[in-house]
Amino acid sequence: MSQAGKEKVIIIGGGIAGLSAGIYALKEGFDAEIYEKNPIVGGECMGWNRKGYHIDNCIHWLTGTDRGTGLWQVWKTVGAIDENTEYAKTSKFYSSRFEGREVTLWNDLDKTQAELIAESPEDEEEIRKFIEYVRYAEECVIPSIKPLDMMGIRDYIEMGKGMANMPKVMKEYGKINCKQLGERFKSPVIRKMMSDYLPEQYTAYSLLVSYATMTSGNGNIPMKGSLAMSLRIADKFKEMGGVIHTSAGVKEIIVKGKRTEGVKLEDGTVVKADHVISAVDTDFLFGRLIDRKYMPKELVKAYERRDAYPVTTGFQAAYAIPSDFSGEDTIFFDVDPITIGTRTFKRISVKNYSYDPSFAPEGRAVLQANLIQTDADYDFWNSLSREEYVQKKAELSEEITKRIVKEFPELEGKIELLDSWSPLTYNRYCNAYHGSYMGFVTTVGNKQMRFKGVVKGIDNLYVAGQWVMSPGGLPIAVISGKFAVQRILKKQGRSIEI
Ligand SMILES: Cc1cc2nc3c(=O)[nH]c(=O)nc-3n(C[C@H](O)[C@H](O)[C@H](O)COP(=O)(O)OP(=O)(O)OC[C@H]3O[C@@H](n4cnc5c(N)ncnc54)[C@H](O)[C@@H]3O)c2cc1C
Repeated sequence: MSQAGKEKVIIIGGGIAGLSAGIYALKEGFDAEIYEKNPIVGGECMGWNRKGYHIDNCIHWLTGTDRGTGLWQVWKTVGAIDENTEYAKTSKFYSSRFEGREVTLWNDLDKTQAELIAESPEDEEEIRKFIEYVRYAEECVIPSIKPLDMMGIRDYIEMGKGMANMPKVMKEYGKINCKQLGERFKSPVIRKMMSDYLPEQYTAYSLLVSYATMTSGNGNIPMKGSLAMSLRIADKFKEMGGVIHTSAGVKEIIVKGKRTEGVKLEDGTVVKADHVISAVDTDFLFGRLIDRKYMPKELVKAYERRDAYPVTTGFQAAYAIPSDFSGEDTIFFDVDPITIGTRTFKRISVKNYSYDPSFAPEGRAVLQANLIQTDADYDFWNSLSREEYVQKKAELSEEITKRIVKEFPELEGKIELLDSWSPLTYNRYCNAYHGSYMGFVTTVGNKQMRFKGVVKGIDNLYVAGQWVMSPGGLPIAVISGKFAVQRILKKQGRSIEI
């Protein structure tokens, strides 16, 4: 109990999930304190400054910007966005170049359909089907009212009302991966495009749902970027009376019998609480903060089966470029092979951030390159000594720069490296498992990873964060914070309608 006689909730981790849990806890009359190991909150929803530029490193799309959705209400409640939020004026999901051709997934589905058919008339039937199913996928709703296991029949009926066509999408594109989706097309550039954005072993269904988020207008990018959004949520939490302790890493969750008494910080301080919500990476929670024996069986299975449940991370480099650079938004293209450890990469993407002038001085913009990485790449980076790591990072950045200039000769002499970072960066900064910045990938034939955010054997410990439900990302992070508070309320016999 706090001095005011309120029950106290401690939240470990000040990412989006932790901040959301804090706000919902305060809203329901608890005292709430967040303990974050870094000097700043936000976790993976982050950005940083280099040489007068801002490197925005998260939001490519924010699911839930459509005001008609329940998720919008959650984002509004936590102070991330509201009716006055200004969004980036972007027109496409991404473009793919291959063998001298270029195609684009525009936010305008009619435009995409016309462009793809013009590119490859022999694929017309498959293209029309793809577009039709993306329209169906626009109906997809992320449950945001209450956790699935707390939903009754009426809730399911309500949620399913607008989603009549989703089972069709699941049936047609849930049993193939992105590579197999590509193979349905004869055009080489369309084939490439289908497995460019998501790692090719992702279910094709995920690609359709992601693209549909953009085409439906439910996946906009708030101006000023990711860190600004995290800070807006933190400000709301503080305005409501919440306390954030930064540079305050938690070392241990103190367990006595079937309950937690609170947490021990890295500096040895013990902080007592009535309830603890962990909003850190689950690999770190189960093993470092509490004994691994508490890990739910669904998670154990996912961590053990690396091929069935891979994770996604990246090697990224940010550059300063002129703002009149012709490459718009995100473009994938072939490059001379680049070897990292045991794997060789032949395609990379660049994303032009010129849509937000606040990221760069006038006349300039930030360009980011991303080489998608996975578990094996993480192992490689992790095997290097400190000196080897620094050298490899510099070498790779140099190699990527050369390839960008080869693809876009207009950048010759006009591109300057600002920073580069690897899967290890995410691990160091956020304790992220294998450097992952999403949850477990759902691969064909394997159940989507999902577990209840409770810990069997510790009654007052709850789990929030992107790992509670695949594919993770910001929407899962924000709702999992709300859901953790609903689980406390349920246990107390209180209403969970919040
Ligand atoms: C490049 C990139 C692009 C992305 N693009 C998108 C996108 O377009 N759309 C989307 O929806 N999602 C996107 N994501 C994913 C999104 O950023 C994450 O899913 C989300 O931010 C995860 O939030 P979280 O709160 O669950 O976890 P985290 O952000 O990892 O938060 C956990 C927090 O806990 C802290 N912590 C860890 N250990 C301790 C400890 N011992 N004590 C105290 N604190 C601790 C960490 O420092 C961190 O702040 C992207 C991520 C990246 C990196």
